[in-house]
Amino acid sequence: MAQKHRSLAVIVPFFVGILLLAIMAGSALILGIDVGRKSETIRVLESESGEIQRSLSALVDAETGFRGYALTGDAGYLEPYYQGLDRLREIENASPDLFSAKLDIDGATTSLSDLIAAPLEQFKLGIAQIEQHGPMGGGNLEILARSKQLVDGIRKAVGTTLAQRRDEIAAQGRDLDTQNLLAFGLVTAAGIIAIALSVAQFFAFNRQLRRRETTEAALQLRSREVELAADMTNALQAVPTREESLLVIADYSSKIVSDMTGGLYTYNNARDQLVLSASWGGETVKSQLAESFAPDQCWALRRGTPHIAYSGNPGLNCHHVLGSPHSYMCVPIAAQGAVYGVLHLATPQTDPERAFDPVQDTARGLANRLSLALANMDLREKLRSLAIRDPLTGLFNRRVLDEILARELARADRARSRLGVAMIDIDHFKGFNDQFGHKAGDVVLRAVCDQVARMLRRSDLACRYGGEEIVVLLPEIDLENGVRVCEKLREGVANIDLGELVPGAVRVTVSIGFSLYPDLCNDPTDILASADRAMYESKRNGRNKVTAYEGTSAGPAPSDDKARALAPAGSSARAPG
Ligand code: GH3
Ligand code: MG
Ligand code: MG
Repeated sequence: MAQKHRSLAVIVPFFVGILLLAIMAGSALILGIDVGRKSETIRVLESESGEIQRSLSALVDAETGFRGYALTGDAGYLEPYYQGLDRLREIENASPDLFSAKLDIDGATTSLSDLIAAPLEQFKLGIAQIEQHGPMGGGNLEILARSKQLVDGIRKAVGTTLAQRRDEIAAQGRDLDTQNLLAFGLVTAAGIIAIALSVAQFFAFNRQLRRRETTEAALQLRSREVELAADMTNALQAVPTREESLLVIADYSSKIVSDMTGGLYTYNNARDQLVLSASWGGETVKSQLAESFAPDQCWALRRGTPHIAYSGNPGLNCHHVLGSPHSYMCVPIAAQGAVYGVLHLATPQTDPERAFDPVQDTARGLANRLSLALANMDLREKLRSLAIRDPLTGLFNRRVLDEILARELARADRARSRLGVAMIDIDHFKGFNDQFGHKAGDVVLRAVCDQVARMLRRSDLACRYGGEEIVVLLPEIDLENGVRVCEKLREGVANIDLGELVPGAVRVTVSIGFSLYPDLCNDPTDILASADRAMYESKRNGRNKVTAYEGTSAGPAPSDDKARALAPAGSSARAPG
């Protein structure tokens, strides 16, 4: 829309200018034609006036010659007379139209040739009389006087005509001057308009060129960003771990929004916090960002839209922004209603709108990509965890146990160290399920597993072995400590406050069998079974007990045992003697 207005603002004045130019050129053309016509009229008037003047002068010469001859009878005086007649004939031959044209002479309409004819007739008559009667005869004098009178009349009339013509020439000349001035004015104005139009066109063209250059530069930048973003997505597919993925994100983000520092906060579900997971653009950025913050401490997350601010101004500042005053922009990273994090960009500039206006689209685009990348990372982690963890309890699954057990046994062999294996089975769990329902059973099973996992060292490994059975691997442990750990686990489980989880339930207990490789069982293929047998020994001895494997074969737990998982504790561990 704005573009259309801009185009109109250029086109309308341009066409008005062209129209003005056309009108001026047309007017100048009409004026030019008129000026030409007037000039021709003046030229004709001047030339005719000259001819009339010359005719008068020839007539006067003829009259002078005639008068001399009339007074003296000397034919020598007739020389100018004939010359005058010759000139008159010459002029008439050269301008027959002028002589025949009706002229307005002294108020009367007559032709020049008629006007001249009368005195010429008198001269001819006078000469004929002189030739007959000699000079100065009475008739001659009369002819002489009439001739003079006629010539004087002609002279006067012609003088008046010539004066009229001069006036007309002068008037035409004035008109011509005015028209010339007007034509000059028009041409000058047209010139000025043409120059103005050219200048305006030049600027418009220049502006257009600059706009196009800017657009092209923006397009180039955009396509580079898109390329980088696509590269980032490809690279992310190839990296296996979250840590490496974050490095890739930091590297590409610093290139995509190249002249800003930045940081990526990712949402940690367990802590309900956003944690600074990656940063780029130098060390200062780290001092400007809190290590972690709650979701409601960022305006972008509060409002679900990018937030731009100057940290030096009072007002809507995010709590996670620290350090010296600077402009920053937070963009929420979210997809399908889930928040994955916040993209944070910063610059030392003091005008945040001006600083971030050109990169807003880029930042939003990057945040979109990051939301997909983070969602992918989460998904991959979930899938990985699904492959190795039991979904109900969160403990490692049996597959992992098989793998780690083999590895740990080999390691124990290599390092001549020990590996403790504890088999844990919940007592009377079937009865618990029957009494409180399967769902409540799940809750208790999870609570037992959590308790076990919480009490182990980092190097230990807890796996869900079967329904309500847990296997714990305790590397590099001796018999005494192994039994002690098992005892602690047994106690820990027995101390779980079940009432909080399942109303009406009092207590859950476990029976534990402990075996130690290679001390109690040196057959790697039998180590689990040996722990299992020891566990059954605990069952047999009243449950809620720890039994270390003694190399004896134990049968299955007595099914008729009346003890219940809800029964009070009181059993004790029994280490081999
Ligand atoms: P004992 O003290 O001899 O071990 O008695 P028990 O009832 O625990 O032994 P048994 O092997 O007869 O029963 C195991 C029960 O554990 C059967 C099953 O209902 C329950 N169980 C196994 N896996 C799950 C589970 O994932 N959730 C729930 N709620 N119960 C489970
Ligand atoms: Mg069992
Ligand atoms: Mg059981």
